[in-house]
Amino acid sequence: MSIDVVTIDGPAGAGKSATSRALAERLGLEFLNTGAMYRAVALRALRDGIELTDESALAEVARNVTLESQSGRTIMDGEDVTDAVRAPEISRIVRYPANAPSVRAILVEQQRRIGLARPLVTEGRDQGTAVFPDARCKIYLDASPEERARRRLGELRARGEETPLELILNQILERDRLDSEREVGPLCVPQDALRINSDGKSIEQVVDEMERAARSRLAIFALRSQNQ
Ligand code: C5P
Repeated sequence: MSIDVVTIDGPAGAGKSATSRALAERLGLEFLNTGAMYRAVALRALRDGIELTDESALAEVARNVTLESQSGRTIMDGEDVTDAVRAPEISRIVRYPANAPSVRAILVEQQRRIGLARPLVTEGRDQGTAVFPDARCKIYLDASPEERARRRLGELRARGEETPLELILNQILERDRLDSEREVGPLCVPQDALRINSDGKSIEQVVDEMERAARSRLAIFALRSQNQ
């Protein structure tokens, strides 16, 4: 049985967060950023002085932390950590919880519970494959490594940081490798996904494409009127 979930997977820097959030708004659906959940576990572990290589301690953190998503914002133990989880120090350590199978099992369970409770747009790496294989609409958003590196360079420049493009490109290729080679929940294209490449497209153009796909696959108008 299909469930009323739109999954958006793809590599880092393809534009998933901005487009998924906008899509959820257009469709009037809840938005879930699953990367932020892994980041929140990393933040809790860092603050509590947990040894990051100790998988069972990380699983304990994942089990005990309260994570909520409210209007697309990430709330950890009652605190809005949406911005805190994007800090570079969290980006550097998030691979520890993301690569820990027992942490993934706990967070995947939470994601399914959220998705079964109400219609949802959810973004991550494994949403259309491992978490919601029965989702009605699956999208895989991609962009070339060069384009993703140029976008990242632009973001860093806007913050006054200067980093060579080649270094950024190598970091992106390394993240792609880690994401794809992970044993549990690796990044891969769901078989029945619509593939969208965001190279040279504005956020608006990508969201337009996503919206067309989602509206044709979900009985969205019926859903909206039921929800109102
Ligand atoms: O998308 P974002 O960069 O916020 O993801 C943070 C980390 O969480 C990345 O290392 C990514 O591989 C991981 N992740 C994951 N599974 C998801 C979403 C993100 O392993 N569903």
